[in-house]
Amino acid sequence: MQDEKLVPLSALQHYAFCPRQCALIHNEQVWAENWLTAQGQVLHQRVDRGEPETRKGIRYERGVLVSAESLGITGKLDLVEIELSTGMMKPVEYKRGKPKRESWDRIQLCAQGLCLEEMRSQPVLSGALWYWQTRHRDEVAFTDELREETLTVITEVRNLLRSGQTPKAVYEKKCDSCSLYDLCNPKLLGNDGSTRYVNELFDEVDRQ
Ligand code: SF4
Repeated sequence: MQDEKLVPLSALQHYAFCPRQCALIHNEQVWAENWLTAQGQVLHQRVDRGEPETRKGIRYERGVLVSAESLGITGKLDLVEIELSTGMMKPVEYKRGKPKRESWDRIQLCAQGLCLEEMRSQPVLSGALWYWQTRHRDEVAFTDELREETLTVITEVRNLLRSGQTPKAVYEKKCDSCSLYDLCNPKLLGNDGSTRYVNELFDEVDRQ
């Protein structure tokens, strides 16, 4: 996979949320900075600023750059916790929202674990998601099932980005919290198939 561009870890979460959103962001470079994404970026910037430190037998490394060449993915981890007595590593991802029933966030986190495993040649058994809105930390075991789901999403994202295609909009409840809602306009597109209208919106963005 050396000749291909590595897929950013964030694309996996975008794809798991909505393949169209993933294509708009990563193929078409469309990005709408609504308050949700802006808040998320501020949170990640704050997390990235910290220096490595050790407390109570755990080393905390922040803003860790990782990749798994064999899988074609790369990214920057908010935090890696390393238990000094065992060497066990645990990626920790900060999210602005609250825990979700769907596995979007867990897939991104598991992919972080896969990167660490490949880079440091040791198993990573679990990670954690920390939610800003609820001030809640969820421990996530990297089960065989989650690993399989993550590998499937990685393959699908690679295929999507390679194809250069953008899937059609289909309105669902999750669209209401999508940062690209105004640009995508899924209700209009879903109702009358007005692709020309949406294309014009993107053209307008390109001109800015
Ligand atoms: S508005 Fe809905 S269909 Fe459009 S990109 Fe967002 S989640 Fe996907």
